[in-house]
Amino acid sequence: MMGDFGVEAKGVKQIKFTNWSQTFSCEPNLYFVPKDVEELREIIFLAKSTNKKIRVVGCGHSPSDICCTDDYMISLRFFNNVLSINCETNTIRVEAGITLTEINAYLDSHKLAIPVLGSVSDITIAGVISTGTHGSGAKFGVLADYVLDMELITTSGDTIKCSRDENSDVFLSALSGLGAIGIIIRLTFQCEPAFLLYEYSYPSTLGEVLEELDEELKSCDHYRFLWFPHTDCVSVQNNNRIYNKEVTKYTASQRACNWFWDYAIGYYTLEFAYWLSTYYQPLVPYINRIWFWLQYSRPKERIDISHKVFNFECLFKQHVNEWSIPREKTAKVLLELKSWIERTPNIYVHFPVEVRFVKEDDIYLSPAYGRDSTFINIIMYRPYGKDVSHSAYWDQYEKIMKESGGRPHWAKAHRENASDFVKMYPYFRAWTQVRKRLDPINLLINSYLNRILNES
Ligand SMILES: Cc1cc2nc3c(=O)[nH]c(=O)nc-3n(C[C@H](O)[C@H](O)[C@H](O)COP(=O)(O)OP(=O)(O)OC[C@H]3O[C@@H](n4cnc5c(N)ncnc54)[C@H](O)[C@@H]3O)c2cc1C
Repeated sequence: MMGDFGVEAKGVKQIKFTNWSQTFSCEPNLYFVPKDVEELREIIFLAKSTNKKIRVVGCGHSPSDICCTDDYMISLRFFNNVLSINCETNTIRVEAGITLTEINAYLDSHKLAIPVLGSVSDITIAGVISTGTHGSGAKFGVLADYVLDMELITTSGDTIKCSRDENSDVFLSALSGLGAIGIIIRLTFQCEPAFLLYEYSYPSTLGEVLEELDEELKSCDHYRFLWFPHTDCVSVQNNNRIYNKEVTKYTASQRACNWFWDYAIGYYTLEFAYWLSTYYQPLVPYINRIWFWLQYSRPKERIDISHKVFNFECLFKQHVNEWSIPREKTAKVLLELKSWIERTPNIYVHFPVEVRFVKEDDIYLSPAYGRDSTFINIIMYRPYGKDVSHSAYWDQYEKIMKESGGRPHWAKAHRENASDFVKMYPYFRAWTQVRKRLDPINLLINSYLNRILNES
């Protein structure tokens, strides 16, 4: 059945899409925000009849061109309803365009919580699932691992239901589906009873955390650390579930003090300092050392609602690169990176290198497929939007990660293609076959996907 294409009039022209970090942009031919599934189907039929491609976008937080298209861009902003909640099984059924912030608020009022989160929640559940988004904790998987079932609209316009028991190959492909398997419209997510997190952060050294890593990972629910390049300094963040306790309350003067350290020092002054260093790069190691001393050299503790501890405000814009490696390679990789930074002239890199831990899973294209994983995230800030050269750092980091069995984070800008992915993922070909079966006309493909699928 083909629509009458009155829907074309609902497409907005001359929209410029720019991702959160302002590193990629595009000008889709038409931008749609469908109100319901019927309208979504009509857009699919319109795209097919006009030879246009489709890209669904969530909140556009991916620091890559994964969302970019010159053809049709679709936002499921109106697909943001909670459909049902079950407080016995601790599950929630939602529409795919809902943000984690909206889910967190709804779960709070029903005394449930998402078991693990990454740094931000102003992103859609479908975007999170489609890119292997993760938090940290040896016993916690990528967020997609908590999805129990999904409904997708395929490029034929049909709805497919999938789960581990029904169309399992579609399910394991669409979790980490990169927007290429189908358009996710609904899903059920496994939550747990609401919990508070006790956060203890303390200073340490890289040598110490690497030596005690296995023990530390076992000793708490959520463990991650920030390493300050050009130094040995590390800030460890260690979170445990805690119940029946009071959330830490701050007086007005403590709040002012927190604002001073988090914003006046940790944001505005830091941005200015890194901006200055763009004129004289040898300042960078001093900045890293001084900010560690100012902000991270004393132990801190607090108790708060889980999502408030998992999330934090990501400050000024940045280039990021993140890969996962088998957990047992963590020390080797970090020490190799440290040694390269120290012995290479004219290499100056920003803090932090963030190190997080994720449990293995069976999702075809999850960076944690088949192995407990460590994600190592490197950044170079862009103070006041100014680009800072980072290609030599990126090249060396990627070389080290690749030699250690690394897999790039799907949301982040990477340069790998199918020839790399077949070696990295045992089910890469199975994923491409499912994609081809559900999208034989390559409707959901953009240049990012073309690179992924290119074997040369
Ligand atoms: C400040 C910041 C902090 C971050 N912190 C973390 C972190 O802690 N851990 C981590 O792992 N990542 C992190 N990320 C990356 C982020 O989690 C991912 O980029 C995530 O995909 C963003 O969700 P989104 O809604 O913005 O998706 P988008 O970037 O808009 O889209 C991502 C992908 O999802 C697809 N998609 C969206 N909706 C649908 C749908 N309905 N059906 C099918 N496909 C769909 C898109 O086509 C695209 O392929 C961070 C990013 C930023 C900018």
